Amino acid sequence: MNIKDFFGENVKDLDKNQARDLGWLIVERLHVEPIDWAVTALTDKQASALKKDILRLRSGEPLGYILGTVPFVNCEIKVTPDVLIPRSETEQLCDIIINEFEGVPTRILDVCTGSGCIAVALAKNLDAEVFATDKSESAVSVARQNALANFAQVDFVVGDMFERVTGTFDVIVCNPPYLDENEMAGLPASVRDFEPNSALYGGQDGLDFYRILATEAPKYLNSGGIMYLEVGDFQADKVAEILSADFDCEIAADYYGFDRFVIARSRK
Ligand code: GLN
Repeated sequence: MNIKDFFGENVKDLDKNQARDLGWLIVERLHVEPIDWAVTALTDKQASALKKDILRLRSGEPLGYILGTVPFVNCEIKVTPDVLIPRSETEQLCDIIINEFEGVPTRILDVCTGSGCIAVALAKNLDAEVFATDKSESAVSVARQNALANFAQVDFVVGDMFERVTGTFDVIVCNPPYLDENEMAGLPASVRDFEPNSALYGGQDGLDFYRILATEAPKYLNSGGIMYLEVGDFQADKVAEILSADFDCEIAADYYGFDRFVIARSRK
């Protein structure tokens, strides 16, 4: 059977997103682009391996966990069920920081590092000393592997927010858990059943971690230091308000025009 017919047969009872993911999966597993599918035969071994993947897709499991890695900035990030799958907004947050600090020696702290995607991408693309922390030991173990695999130098510590952080930084970056109770209740099954809850839930109103950042971050920022935060839909104004005592805040939109980043400059 050629790949095109295999795809046609197996795509039938998948939903639209899963169908797109099946296309990706085939390209990633077989390294054959769709234009060549009709003229490329599938071995029995390839077909049965793909069938196993398709069962996982059909169960709602995100493609990132099935493939085990996701591309992020110019890095390849390993993901396991212990870490959130990096999102494209987070890549954009990294792009903003990379553009701002290119060629400038910088000390950076990534709080709630999870897979380490932010820390690794910044260490790889900037002339920076990068530190990162997460309260989950298993997440930090994945993050360490990601730094090694991407030849990025990052110092990791396991701790809750600033618990194990020492020293001061020019930049603090954080993509904390920020979903509120309602959003948690309405999560699609592919997120709810597969991604770690602790990486998603930000307390009743979703803003708990920003409150901690507002009170703790000033102690760890150098004079004129900047905090780069990813925020949830419709949270940017509230987060800027929470930070307003010690920071001048600027709100930035993602590629879709949604306000998803707060850039907070320390007034001290
Ligand atoms: N910093 C990681 C990421 O951006 C993890 C974020 C989280 O667990 N909330 O993907």
